[in-house]
Amino acid sequence: MKDGFWPKVLLVESDESQAQAVSSRLATCRYEVRTAADSAAAVREIERDCPHYLLVQWPLPGTDSGTLCSKIREMELPNYVFVILLAEQGGPQAAAEGLNLGADEVLPRPAPAEELLARMNAGARMLSLERRLQRMISVDPVTGLATRRAFLAEARREHGRAVRYGRTMACVMIDIDFFKRVNDSFGHQAGDDVLKAVAEVLAGSSRASDLVCRYGGEEFCALLPETDEDGAAEWADRVRDTISRLRLPLGGWPIAVTASAGVAEWLSETSRLEDMIELADQALLVAKESGRDRVVRHSILRDSALLARCNERNPFHGATARDVMTPLVPCLKEDETVGEATDFFLRFRIAASPVVDGRGKLVGILSEKDLIPLMTMERGWERPIRDVMRGNIVCYGEETPAQKICDFFVRSAVRRVIIVDDGYPVGIVSRGTMLRWYRNWLVARGIVAAAPAPGGDGSAESHKSLLATSQLILQEAEKLCSELRETLGTPLGPLIRRASNLEELNNDLLVQAQSITSGARREGSECGIRNAE
Ligand code: GH3
Ligand code: MG
Ligand code: MG
Repeated sequence: MKDGFWPKVLLVESDESQAQAVSSRLATCRYEVRTAADSAAAVREIERDCPHYLLVQWPLPGTDSGTLCSKIREMELPNYVFVILLAEQGGPQAAAEGLNLGADEVLPRPAPAEELLARMNAGARMLSLERRLQRMISVDPVTGLATRRAFLAEARREHGRAVRYGRTMACVMIDIDFFKRVNDSFGHQAGDDVLKAVAEVLAGSSRASDLVCRYGGEEFCALLPETDEDGAAEWADRVRDTISRLRLPLGGWPIAVTASAGVAEWLSETSRLEDMIELADQALLVAKESGRDRVVRHSILRDSALLARCNERNPFHGATARDVMTPLVPCLKEDETVGEATDFFLRFRIAASPVVDGRGKLVGILSEKDLIPLMTMERGWERPIRDVMRGNIVCYGEETPAQKICDFFVRSAVRRVIIVDDGYPVGIVSRGTMLRWYRNWLVARGIVAAAPAPGGDGSAESHKSLLATSQLILQEAEKLCSELRETLGTPLGPLIRRASNLEELNNDLLVQAQSITSGARREGSECGIRNAE
């Protein structure tokens, strides 16, 4: 075969001399041939080691080769099996029947050797295409390592073996430290070069039985069969050390990178593969939090204060979307107009609102930004909101970990997400909401001082800001007076500009006054998203 591929053939033939003749002919063409005398033996062989070609005598005395043919199409097999029925009866009707049973070819029995080989060659094109596609989804194009998908499929098989034979195994999660800085300082291509170099270290440090993959982004995962946590930690530290000694020529300079790793061993026959990966991931998190460029074993975290300390340093630990969101009271309706939406935004001093349909279900989001282009459009004021709202809304359920939403904000340019319950919007989380949560968390731990409370010193502060805003209003009003005195006719432009400024300042004054009279400055407004941005 052209690409070094040695195809496996299973020949199902009741006549021994026939089987012998076909096998020897195929063997001379570098096919690896096995034989089975009936359907049951054939199924066992297929399950044991799936062939690429299945050549079946049709009919097969004592058993039903037609059923074997259709059965193989229902089996979940690791590769496509090219089926050739070797028919006693020739003719177009038999050919149609065989193809309908799931065969790829129907040839007379005994098949002329030249034709059989030519048909198998034609089948090889299909098998080769399948292998190419398989490679594309199982090999990461940047590093040449297995993809997470291929890794998990193989790891599940390994896990099955460990369960069956009571063997041990361990998992190592490796993440390059501060990798984003490499991209930011030297560009994406340099980032890819670092990924390749780290992948080479991993591949070069592992045994043939180890599974190593690019788990995602700049994270790698290794599954080490027949290895306990001690052995895996030793391996991980060797890899970490080798990575730290790399000097990569990026931007004309030899650049060093480091990586952190978390190690966990498979704990018991009852635990799932995913649990072990999760434990290694937790250990990796601790390796990051405790300084990076180190290996942390999960076992030392059990009953230890280290994990708790790590969680203590995470403001979102244990918090869900419900905890951090600002609850929603009113929402805009999709058939309201742009004019009504503008009034709504100005009245409540908010920057964006979810949009709902007649049943109250979420259908979109509208922000001040979406209204701006409408200002110059003829009768834009009267357009229904459904024409201008954005339908691609990022939504999360109330139970979503707050950390997940925070990660989303870190990675995306989206400013706010909607929290939904069965399609009904119940809250909103914006970047501002997150920052407010973080600020409150710092205050709660006494890391920063709380905002001044009304009364006492705080009251003096609030009065100061009231006075400052009032003075700005005075200045603005004086400017307006002098502009009106100096300009003849209808000075509409300056008038609108000054009046808008005054309105803004007036609103600020009201908010500041409210904070004095109604106690602490309330988080969010009555409709939930005031000044969230
Ligand atoms: P930490 O030490 O906490 O792991 O920090 P970090 O900067 O390594 O982690 P972070 O998750 O902030 O950034 C990972 C970066 O990896 C962000 C992303 O752009 C980059 N990245 C992910 N996949 C690729 C890729 O295929 N090529 C390149 N060049 N960069 C990638
Ligand atoms: Mg990283
Ligand atoms: Mg990462």
